[in-house]
Amino acid sequence: MDVSARYHALTTAIYPWFEPQWKKVRQLYRSDKLPHALIINGVQGIGKLHFASSIAQLVLCQDKSAEKACNQCRSCQLFTSSGHPDLYHLTPDEGVEQIKVDQVRDLSGFMQSTAQQGGYRVVILDVAEAMNISAANALLKTLEEPGDKSLLLLLSNQLGQVMPTIKSRCQRIDCPIPPSSMAEKWLQEQLSMDAAGAAQLLSVVHGAPLMGLGFKERGEQALRADFFVGLKSILQGKTTAITLAPIYAKKDIKLLLSWMYSLLVDITKLQVIGVESALVNQDMAKMLAALAKRSQSKRIYQLADKVQGHRAALLAHQNPNKQLLLEELLIDWKKLM
Ligand SMILES: [Zn+2]
Repeated sequence: MDVSARYHALTTAIYPWFEPQWKKVRQLYRSDKLPHALIINGVQGIGKLHFASSIAQLVLCQDKSAEKACNQCRSCQLFTSSGHPDLYHLTPDEGVEQIKVDQVRDLSGFMQSTAQQGGYRVVILDVAEAMNISAANALLKTLEEPGDKSLLLLLSNQLGQVMPTIKSRCQRIDCPIPPSSMAEKWLQEQLSMDAAGAAQLLSVVHGAPLMGLGFKERGEQALRADFFVGLKSILQGKTTAITLAPIYAKKDIKLLLSWMYSLLVDITKLQVIGVESALVNQDMAKMLAALAKRSQSKRIYQLADKVQGHRAALLAHQNPNKQLLLEELLIDWKKLM
């Protein structure tokens, strides 16, 4: 791995919903009970990387008396400017989804080396389930013989996909989805939006505030709107699955499938409870109501299962033909009407 990865700039912040976890880690650290490896577990988009980065800054900070990183010492300055030489942020190489064995070997070398600033060496491995089997096995060796004063922070969005032998060697920090009132208030402040807008946005991203923030910045809100127009047009017979599949196959298919799944869940909610206020996709209420009225529950469940199956395969890094996959799902979608 390029040495510059060690200088990866990370911004620090403690989000209010991370206070309990932050308190726990701080106590472990202050009482000299911090283990060599923590696994930070929670869904994507709640700010685990920021949290890990705050832990890294805490243990690298040279002022050991302060309650949190001092932001003054040489270490903190390095951390917040060019990047700290004793911090290593490991992610999959650009354009690939997996963390490979060579990357983990570099990491192990780093953890065994002497810290340049005389304190801890910290690795943030982002995310644990991205390691392929040989990478995970290589990491096990490091976990069995961690260097002195080394801290490995493994992030995980899907703990079920992490090798049990790895999990058993790490202390687990669970990070639940933030309370909605807290997350809504935070989003309102960040995006200067009203309470209703924040609640709708949060609902679309399943309660993950950082994902809500990124939703606008990464243009995902626009992609979602565009995809939903496409889905509506298919139902109205204005376009076909075969026309749209190659267009959407170029987009983030995991996102598209998660949105499609959430629409199907909403249709089921309407059929079972019949209350529009329970919908995640309030902005699509009209189309959803029409589908709830006209489609058979069985077909909806079948399609929802299929979408989930494909999503699971994609998350497990299988590499299907995206266009064919989308064609199949969009044809089934059309059949709902
Ligand atoms: Zn400091």
